[in-house]
Amino acid sequence: MIVFDLQCRDGGETFEAWFRSGAEFEEQRDAGLVQCPICSSANVDKAPMAPRVPRKDSDQPITRLAALQSRLLKDSRWVGDAFTDTARAMHSGEIETEQVHGNATLEQARSLLDDGVPVAPLPLRVTPPNQVN
Ligand SMILES: [Zn+2]
Repeated sequence: MIVFDLQCRDGGETFEAWFRSGAEFEEQRDAGLVQCPICSSANVDKAPMAPRVPRKDSDQPITRLAALQSRLLKDSRWVGDAFTDTARAMHSGEIETEQVHGNATLEQARSLLDDGVPVAPLPLRVTPPNQVN
């Protein structure tokens, strides 16, 4: 799967949409199936910054960010939705401390920080291991 930042040519709104490939996006767009979620116009195209996939060109800022994140996560374990509980349990000493990453809502992250649990947002959205293509 690939996520594109799309832009409505009528209203100028930008939004994200997922496609199996760039070719599938073009097919669906040409068939008028890709619509602006704001005004339902089918006059949409890729926004200037699309697509958000790593490129060969290592000067792409997004590539450098992705490389940084993969270094951050190299020794980290994906815990998914159990992130908040896991972080709390480690903080209180119930389980052994290790580096983990996973999902937390803004509310959960705030409450962890309020309780002195050190958490930090990741620069890029993480694809859970069970959702990789
Ligand atoms: Zn629109």
